[in-house]
Amino acid sequence: MEIREAGPLAGGMLRFGIPAYRLPREVLDGEVARLVEAGVTLTLNHKVEDVLRERDEGGFDAVFMAIGAHLAKRVDIPAREAGRILDAVSFLEQASLCVEQGLPPPKLGRRVAIYGGGNTAMDAARTARRLGAEEAMIIYRRDRDHMPAHAFEADEAEEEGIKINWLRSIRHMDESRIEVEEMTLDGDGRPVPTGRIETLEADSLILALGQEVDLTVLETIPGVRVNQEGVVQVGENLMTDVPGLFAGGDMVPSQRTVTIATGHGKKAARHMDAWLRGEHYQKPPSHPLIGHEGLHLWFQTRAPASDQPVMAAAARQDFREIVGGLSEGEARYEASRCYSCGNCFECDGCYGSCPEQAIEKLGAGLGYRVDPARCTGCSACHDQCPCNAIEMEEAR
Ligand SMILES: Cc1cc2nc3c(=O)[nH]c(=O)nc-3n(C[C@H](O)[C@H](O)[C@H](O)COP(=O)(O)OP(=O)(O)OC[C@H]3O[C@@H](n4cnc5c(N)ncnc54)[C@H](O)[C@@H]3O)c2cc1C
Ligand code: SF4
Ligand code: SF4
Repeated sequence: MEIREAGPLAGGMLRFGIPAYRLPREVLDGEVARLVEAGVTLTLNHKVEDVLRERDEGGFDAVFMAIGAHLAKRVDIPAREAGRILDAVSFLEQASLCVEQGLPPPKLGRRVAIYGGGNTAMDAARTARRLGAEEAMIIYRRDRDHMPAHAFEADEAEEEGIKINWLRSIRHMDESRIEVEEMTLDGDGRPVPTGRIETLEADSLILALGQEVDLTVLETIPGVRVNQEGVVQVGENLMTDVPGLFAGGDMVPSQRTVTIATGHGKKAARHMDAWLRGEHYQKPPSHPLIGHEGLHLWFQTRAPASDQPVMAAAARQDFREIVGGLSEGEARYEASRCYSCGNCFECDGCYGSCPEQAIEKLGAGLGYRVDPARCTGCSACHDQCPCNAIEMEEAR
């Protein structure tokens, strides 16, 4: 099993998009190292240009593509003697290489404007501040209620001194000034120009207007369908229309988050394994959903929520993590609040409550076996099972 990665380091947007103050690189490096230790070959600095040729030459039986969405969307901003205009994806990548590899930082000037209202815009502004910009401001066409960014990301950006100019659309840029038009919103939340013009001061402009999938690699693969949104169409098993060619993450229809992309990898692996065996992977049925009313709680755990350490806004000058994780002890403490709804956690309650000694312990982690010859169906085990992991059925 081999990963062929175009970049100099593994991680994709987890390394070159999400800044280190939200995802410490030692955590990411640890995750990558785990894959390599598990036997995955990681080939860096290898851009795949022709997927099918590399598949055939490498003797691969199946391929999973996850090239992300790295092409920055652009708008045409009229500019005479334009200041520096760059896109957020390239800027964040350069910033990451600067912090991790000591490469020169992107040139921004003293005042930086960021155009967009998503999480990428917030990250670009906060990164610009950390790289030394005295002033970083966001310009967004709609208002806070209609921004795509998470509210907490905008809050954190504002705490760090980022000014957000809501309801402003860029009309023109010159060396140190950006002309913006004030907008208003119609009944559907769409921005409408008002004709009122303002001038903002900025030495550079970072465009954070979203990302698209670079489809050039697909040109060599006849039969792969791309939908209207410019992402690759896959079936429920994440296989494209080309047998044995699977795809996932940001390049297929998805919410574009780390958890979704990681989940796609796991799901695709199961489907690829089944496909190679000539089978179809069937997800095992989930346990029935157990609500609070189904629990038989004869014990209580006291576990108030642990507080994650948050760095004070004034101290956020560098790329150290601003919201710390939980220690192992705290994580275990958090987990002790779990009622294990519907899932046996081997409390031995049923074993102890059975009047017929019909329940046999199979050993730690192995659960229990009920001897049907002894069980009278009295339901004592079921009635006291704290998490409702036992179901009683009519004898057939
Ligand atoms: C600024 C920013 C902040 C974000 N913050 C969050 C967040 O806080 N939480 C969250 O859940 N999600 C966040 N996301 C989204 C998240 O990063 C992505 O959804 C996720 O990384 C997608 O994973 P992926 O594997 O599909 O693609 P990517 O992570 O983009 O990885 C694709 C990889 O493919 C490589 N590649 C591309 N083309 C080729 C080729 N031809 N040959 C070989 N390799 C190639 C690239 O170099 C890259 O390493 C953020 C995204 C950005 C841009
Ligand atoms: S089935 Fe219920 S009572 Fe029996 S050990 Fe598991 S959790 Fe405890
Ligand atoms: S139903 Fe009654 S007899 Fe049967 S295993 Fe449960 S407690 Fe024991």
